[in-house]
Amino acid sequence: MAFEAAQSQLIGSLRTGLYVDGTWRDASAGATFDVEDPATGEVLTTVADATPEDGMAALDAAAAAQGSWARTAPRERAEILRRAFESVTARADDFALLMTLEMGKPLAEARGEVTYGAEFLRWFSEEAARVSGRYAIAPDGKARLMVHKRPVGPCLFITPWNFPLAMATRKIAPAIAAGCTMVVKPAALTPLTTLLLTSVLEEAGLPSGVLNVVPTSDAGGVTGPLLRDPRLRKLSFTGSTEVGRRLLKDSADQVLRTSMELGGNAPFLVFEDADLDAALDGAMLAKLRNMGEACTAANRFLVHASVAEEFGSRLAQRMAALPVARGTEEDSKIGPLIDEKSRQKVQELVDDAVGTGGRVLTGGQPQAGAGYFYPPTVISGVGSDARILAEEVFGPVAPIVTFTDEDEAVAMANDTEFGLVGYAYTRDVSRTLRLADTLESGMLGINVGVVSNPAAPFGGVKQSGLGREGGFEGIEEYLETKYVGLADPFGG
Ligand code: NAD
Repeated sequence: MAFEAAQSQLIGSLRTGLYVDGTWRDASAGATFDVEDPATGEVLTTVADATPEDGMAALDAAAAAQGSWARTAPRERAEILRRAFESVTARADDFALLMTLEMGKPLAEARGEVTYGAEFLRWFSEEAARVSGRYAIAPDGKARLMVHKRPVGPCLFITPWNFPLAMATRKIAPAIAAGCTMVVKPAALTPLTTLLLTSVLEEAGLPSGVLNVVPTSDAGGVTGPLLRDPRLRKLSFTGSTEVGRRLLKDSADQVLRTSMELGGNAPFLVFEDADLDAALDGAMLAKLRNMGEACTAANRFLVHASVAEEFGSRLAQRMAALPVARGTEEDSKIGPLIDEKSRQKVQELVDDAVGTGGRVLTGGQPQAGAGYFYPPTVISGVGSDARILAEEVFGPVAPIVTFTDEDEAVAMANDTEFGLVGYAYTRDVSRTLRLADTLESGMLGINVGVVSNPAAPFGGVKQSGLGREGGFEGIEEYLETKYVGLADPFGG
């Protein structure tokens, strides 16, 4: 098959070492770890396995480069990002195939992520030259106030496996734009896309030491000492709430600035006045994008009792029709889950939901054979104590519960420690505005199943995190506000 030739050529051409101070090299202990294709369980390649010493060498390089990097012209940083954007776009097929191979998502979705992930490079290339400050006369007319923005300093980025390109560019691009240096620890399950992006940024002219990349199988061992080092000024983490909480505690000793993009438990509300066709289209996207392995995935379908039966049966019909296959197959709509552990967790939550009275309308059992495939699943009549309503399922499973009025729907939607995103389908404008106030989430989609957009602030409230990525807000995460007080120029 053509893709097999493309696969071996692409994998063979990858740099798989550590990237420290502008140099590709082996890990100091010489170790490597395997990267697997979740569709087959086979090893794709091996990658250098950084040690704590390698992590510290990466921080040494980032700290040494910080001063000169902060003084580069914003335009110069912008143009590096712009060249990287052009290059990722030109190599879209390579990036898409690589993501499909290491993470499993269908090629069409991987292409979508290339567009989304590359856009952070372009957006922040445009923002780099817009960082500004202010000058003011103090209210008493005497002192003068100058406020300007400075780069935060060396950053540590820890990224998840589910969006291997976009979760990296959403941090790296604004940090470059702001003038910060960085150490990146990609997810051990999917380090290859970050390594290809690193090659692209190197070719785009990023100076040595600005970006350092340390894949490792020992996440805590490599990143822990960096969090305790006073040269590190910022941690940006995307991953589970459980790990995020621990990293926040570890960041307290150095009072580090942190950005935390954590887990979600998105409610998807369908009101009695919704356009049901549109709600079904939105539900397919909100649930099945990335096989449900997204922090923004609809985790709970809260549907008005008068339309719940029709919604459930039509959703099950549409979901059952989707081809479940290796992401490299052109007609694949649902690829494998990332690993067996994730698949077992999905099954556990499905079994638990059935135990609370849920009825499986489609799916409900793992697919036999190689790879970690799980079919799209719809469960109606789920009991209010089901674990799936409280925990992220991170798989293609849609539990449906019903409500009878808006207050009840909002109370159910907010009954979670998470607050990343919500979705609502309604044609009532006043209701839309009420929901924008009453739903406890950092983001809300109205009559739309995907809200992610590089020009918008992405992030959550409650235990879904701290800070925002993308939009005008995204670069602020990498800037300090510095105030300079000036004496009255008239000597008053
Ligand atoms: P995870 O928390 O297991 O891992 C995330 C990253 O943290 C990985 O690089 C991992 O190696 C690293 N890590 C794990 N333990 C660590 C430790 N003790 N010290 C330092 N680093 C450590 O999450 P995951 O399974 O990779 O990703 C899925 C989770 O990410 C889900 O909860 C999902 O909701 C969340 N997520 C959130 C967003 C968002 O923007 N809010 C986006 C994507 C994913």
